[in-house]
Amino acid sequence: MKQYLAIITLSGVQSFIEQSRKTGDLWAGSQWMAKTMDQLHDEIIKKYSFCSVIFPQGVSSSKDAFRVAFPNRIVLLLKGEQTGEEYEREIQWIIDKLQKQAVESSVRQIKQQFPLMPTDLADKQLRSLFKFHFVVTSHGSSLKETMDEAEQQLRTKKKQFVYQDWMSQPEHGLVCPVCQERTALTNTPFTPRLSMGKMKQIAWETWTQLWEKAQEDRKFVLAKENEALCAVCLSKRLRLKESKYKFPSLDVIAEKKDPYYGLLMMDGDQMGDRMKQSLDDGLGTYQNLSQAITEFAQGVVPDVFSDDEKLLIYAGGDDVMSFLPRKNVLQLAGKLRFAFSQSRPSLNTQTASMGIVIAHRRQPLRHVLAETRKMEALAKAQEGKNSLALTVFLRSGTPLQASLHFGYHEEQYKDEVEKSLAVIKVLPNSFLFELEKALLPGLLSEKEMIRAELKRVLNRSEAPNRLVIEGQLELSKDEANDVLMSLYDRVGRGASEEDRLQQWIAMLHMFNFIAKDEIADKGES
Ligand SMILES: [Zn+2]
Repeated sequence: MKQYLAIITLSGVQSFIEQSRKTGDLWAGSQWMAKTMDQLHDEIIKKYSFCSVIFPQGVSSSKDAFRVAFPNRIVLLLKGEQTGEEYEREIQWIIDKLQKQAVESSVRQIKQQFPLMPTDLADKQLRSLFKFHFVVTSHGSSLKETMDEAEQQLRTKKKQFVYQDWMSQPEHGLVCPVCQERTALTNTPFTPRLSMGKMKQIAWETWTQLWEKAQEDRKFVLAKENEALCAVCLSKRLRLKESKYKFPSLDVIAEKKDPYYGLLMMDGDQMGDRMKQSLDDGLGTYQNLSQAITEFAQGVVPDVFSDDEKLLIYAGGDDVMSFLPRKNVLQLAGKLRFAFSQSRPSLNTQTASMGIVIAHRRQPLRHVLAETRKMEALAKAQEGKNSLALTVFLRSGTPLQASLHFGYHEEQYKDEVEKSLAVIKVLPNSFLFELEKALLPGLLSEKEMIRAELKRVLNRSEAPNRLVIEGQLELSKDEANDVLMSLYDRVGRGASEEDRLQQWIAMLHMFNFIAKDEIADKGES
């Protein structure tokens, strides 16, 4: 009996999901990806009843389909008399079949909206949408070594894959405004050397009826005026239209009284390595960990967001994406981070990092998504990881940015963050500007000197000697000093002293922005 390890994953998922103009695009895109993986998983199990899927474990697809997503990775063990090549051929066949069905059903939906449209362009765009990569690796001396080898092979395969040949880059014609990548669909195909005026005319003839419907009915998600979409972005909108669940729009997420909202992306720190290491203790340990991650996504994450559950875009394994109300951004981030390590005993030494952006609802969502992804990478680049990296985009002025270490004690994080928010809330706005004026020109870098300077500025500020917070907590100026310095110990881990000081001041400004009721930003109309 021969044994093989197979890993299957989808490529280009992040950019596909993040090509979004509306929150609904984002949600529909991630659901589409997850559903595709879920279907593939079902097909694999049907075909290989004798195999065991070791990652993910215990995903129940019926459970809250609109929040919990199938992760973008399937790892399975195959036993039998077949050769590796035979398995490869069969898996490729399953993937091809799945893709063919997906393309056909999307093309059918598009045809219902545009009966006159030729389908070849839509077909081509949809066919090149999901690119699966997989490897089938012969079982070596140990499962861990086999896993190592399989991952290496997968990386090589992905690297060798030439994206340019595969993406259907537009050569001529109007580009879809959502993905800004593929050609917009039209009843009459674009030909080379058409004038811009003529192309717009062609788009108008195709899309005008849908634009009119969109104007009449705000819930009609298909297109708004001047949106002539490609097949992929249109399919996302059609999925949205058919879904019973309506993801709230940015106008709903960021309400009238507060036009700002937060977006968070979380990822477990070095989860892949951790999973691989667990194979040293046997397959059972690996499967336990795999199960724990699923339970985190299915059971724990929806609980963390219970008050704001409508804002959760997806939770797939240790990957979480959610909108957040501005006011609770820091508390919810901490709750999520510590819920991750506390959810199951096998995860209790596990940490996670997060990128968070606070933005105005009028800012292009695509930009906010790209920045949040950057912040996630920045958080992971901090010494010891286990951090959040936060950016606040004001409507005017330079964005603020800093990183904050979570530490290892939930109560301490919560206490320091909440007290800092409370202290900053009762201090006059002028305080931060005074502090900045005192600290930044000379770039004091000694922590004790910074503490002394903070004390001097606090004492000179108009704030009363005892700060009464929320009518109950009462702090002296010395205590307030300690509270704000506790943040200093968390920011910019591993950065130079100068950078750290700047991050601390930026973080205090962001706390000020989060804590205060009035919008400090004058750009709001
Ligand atoms: Zn598009």
